[in-house]
Amino acid sequence: MDRKTFLKTSLASAAALAVAPSVLVSCKQQEKKASIPLRLSFQEGLTPGESLADKLDFMEKLGVTGFEPGGRGLAGRVQEIRDALEGRNIQVSAICAGFDGFILAQDPEVKAQFDKSMREIVRAAGELGSTGVIMVPAFNGQEPVYPHTLQTREYLCAQLHDLGEYALSCGTTVILEPLNRREAFYLRLVADAAAICRDANSKGVKCMGDFWHMQEETSDYAAFMAAGPYLQHVHIASRGNRVMPGEDGEKDNYKEGFRALKELEYPHYVSLECGCRAEDRAAALTNAAALLRQQWEEA
Ligand code: MG
Repeated sequence: MDRKTFLKTSLASAAALAVAPSVLVSCKQQEKKASIPLRLSFQEGLTPGESLADKLDFMEKLGVTGFEPGGRGLAGRVQEIRDALEGRNIQVSAICAGFDGFILAQDPEVKAQFDKSMREIVRAAGELGSTGVIMVPAFNGQEPVYPHTLQTREYLCAQLHDLGEYALSCGTTVILEPLNRREAFYLRLVADAAAICRDANSKGVKCMGDFWHMQEETSDYAAFMAAGPYLQHVHIASRGNRVMPGEDGEKDNYKEGFRALKELEYPHYVSLECGCRAEDRAAALTNAAALLRQQWEEA
């Protein structure tokens, strides 16, 4: 072995030794990522079927294991939903809003409406074993609203703390949903919602990301990673017109976000909240589920 070959060989072995552990780690990560399932959920209104049983039958056929009802009137539907879910591999994912008033209302009467109706929904959500109740602190049109100041944030965190503790006592959570600026200027970014969860200092306060509203984000991946353990739910729609995933073609790429969810070992649901362009909604939902599963696998 001449000096040149010797040097080459030793450098190559040294390099091999240096990369070996990280290659092993990355193989393990790949295996782990492949084992994280995509838990799909459908909103009730989106799912075809005359009755709740028909809708659940349709979901079952597609292997969809999460069901997202609206919060309005939920307290009166607990038994109906429980009965319909019995013996099925479907659980209530999150509950979509449905309360009166809003948490940042300046008018004490509107705030009281929120407190009463939200707690009623949270109690029903707990009885149904839901992951949480989705809420927005204030939509753009809701007034009079506390101004966007530091004091308001502190007030919001204190209010959420109490609500979160109540939700925990019911066995569920409240889930902050950031929206795009045209709908809710107050809370637009997933990381900001997560920081509010942290500062509310209650395990019952969580947040979510909605791929449609996440047009506000500079990176789907970074947004979900920043939310980490606070991330309790995900909404998904096509990314151009908020219709069925896939109906906006190339735009409907969720892989960066999915990669983050897999790395986080995200244990909750990805729930379809969207319109539908196609006349055949059942076919559109079937295609959407296939597309999302394919992208999940590739992420
Ligand atoms: Mg949403």
